[in-house]
Amino acid sequence: MNSYQELGLQKIVNASGRMTALGVSTVNEETARAMCAASMSFVAISDLIDAAGKVIASHVGSEDACPTAGAAAGIAIATAACIAKNSVSITQQLPCSDGLANEVIIQKGHCINFGAPVTQMIRLGGGKVVEVGETNHTLAQNISDAVTEKTAALIYVKSHHCVQKGMVSLEEMIAISKKMNIPLIVDAAAEEDLKTYIARGATLVIYSGAKAIEGPTSGFIAGKKELIASCKLQYFGIGRSMKIGKEGIMGLLKALDLYEAKDMIAIRKKEMEKLQYIQQQLAGIEGLKIELVKDSAGREIYRLKVTVDPEKAKLNCSKLIEGLEAGDVSIRIRDHFSNLGIIEIDPRPLLDGDEVLIAEKFKELLS
Ligand SMILES: *Cc1c(COP(=O)(O)O)cnc(C)c1O
Repeated sequence: MNSYQELGLQKIVNASGRMTALGVSTVNEETARAMCAASMSFVAISDLIDAAGKVIASHVGSEDACPTAGAAAGIAIATAACIAKNSVSITQQLPCSDGLANEVIIQKGHCINFGAPVTQMIRLGGGKVVEVGETNHTLAQNISDAVTEKTAALIYVKSHHCVQKGMVSLEEMIAISKKMNIPLIVDAAAEEDLKTYIARGATLVIYSGAKAIEGPTSGFIAGKKELIASCKLQYFGIGRSMKIGKEGIMGLLKALDLYEAKDMIAIRKKEMEKLQYIQQQLAGIEGLKIELVKDSAGREIYRLKVTVDPEKAKLNCSKLIEGLEAGDVSIRIRDHFSNLGIIEIDPRPLLDGDEVLIAEKFKELLS
């Protein structure tokens, strides 16, 4: 029994992905131990933030870094830093930024909702959002024409949620940032490559600690040291309402360490074994077609695609999903294509033994 079950909650088998609604990711034992140890001692927090910033910066290849409660907090704090710079008074006055250089330029196709709107996080940091271009079409000149003496920053969102075609590229955004001497913030919350954005010329880059890095609920901003100093200053302003604790910081550092040393070949092999087990177990079930498919974005990620024939299976796809989710053990699968009678099993978030629970539940519902 896990600790959530003791509260009377369902045991979740996550076969869908890194979802905030399911707790994003799980940490391994070493990271959990680092968090546990950190939670049992006092520490001078500003010294911890400085020391952690140095460690994070060494992973990212940036001048400095600042831990945050998450990537969403990172967007608000980075925005506030670009407006307040080194002013304590402005830091204490935000998010009210009337009369200051407070405009943050974003292309319309990047105004996404990751669970909350990116633009709201900008406003939370005192930014006035300037949306540029059309949803499916923005030119570099639309961005540079929007720059005025009121501009505080440009922001570029790297995400599968964004419109991908017809957008101003990261390279073009970097060129405008450098030419006009305006900071460029990159929201790379779920990205796997920690070094590329700073190496290519972003001023600040933001990551989530719980997504690709599989750390605790946390995040960070990395980049130029003057602006990172201002990010840290925001903990005496709006950042206070989104503070990260000492446990979160120490867990993040441990997770970053382990992330660098990760044996992806061994991990992918184990994932494949789980998928093959489920595939074998479900092979005989009437009305299911089961295929191993590669990620549609071309990444080296495989998933199990299950196509339901409602006549033969005597259950349609939405009833199957309902059944999988119900009960003491709740199986959560990818349902993006459920309207076509297709569901997918993502092996990456599965814990050991989950593959057996998935196979059992399918058999229970369909035999
Ligand atoms: C997940 C996500 C966020 C928010 O990250 P948290 O760490 O949950 O705050 C922000 N931006 C993008 C693009 C995301 O995918």
